[in-house]
Amino acid sequence: FSSVKIMGIPFANTTRKQFVEQLQTRVKNHQNTFVVTANPEIVMYARTDNSYRETILKADYISPDGIGIIKAANSLKTPLSERIAGYDIFTELVEWANKTHQKVYFLGAKSAVISALKSKLSTSFPNIQLVGAHDGYFKDEAVIAADIEHQQPDIVFVATGFPRQEKFIAQHRHLSNGLWMGVGGSFDVFVG
Ligand code: UDP
Repeated sequence: FSSVKIMGIPFANTTRKQFVEQLQTRVKNHQNTFVVTANPEIVMYARTDNSYRETILKADYISPDGIGIIKAANSLKTPLSERIAGYDIFTELVEWANKTHQKVYFLGAKSAVISALKSKLSTSFPNIQLVGAHDGYFKDEAVIAADIEHQQPDIVFVATGFPRQEKFIAQHRHLSNGLWMGVGGSFDVFVG
């Protein structure tokens, strides 16, 4: 896609549909992919924290998550096609992963949320190959990393909130050639 820069962050200028299709193609081809869904809070934070800024600039795609990003693009006279919300991408990919039997690893949120997530997946998305479901309050990151490497997921959703989730992904994405995406509070909403 073409991109539109807002405060130095290049946002994917496409529709949600095309964006999700591109991610699906890359998953099918086992291409290593890092997606950041950036809302205005993330953009502002990246201005103050240079290491986080460098981390998100390593992403393959940054989606405009929130009307604030769309408005900023409009006022810069470089409009973006569409808002692409992280939660929407997350739910579309979960549905697609079920349809196409992908291996998915869920990392993040509280352990009660992970329990509820597992039960929702087993009843409503039984064809997902659930290769990992772990809360986001782990002590030993190396243990989680080793598990992900062992499982070789096609998709890794990391829901530990920014900036942690993007830092985790940038550090560990080489462990499995799939799609890695930070999804913030999406697990909470999904089971809510
Ligand atoms: N979280 C986590 N580990 C932590 C801190 C937070 O897994 O050490 C989870 C938290 O339970 C919630 C998500 O991260 O599910 C953060 O959600 P939020 O909506 O705050 O996302 P943000 O907007 O910060 O990306």
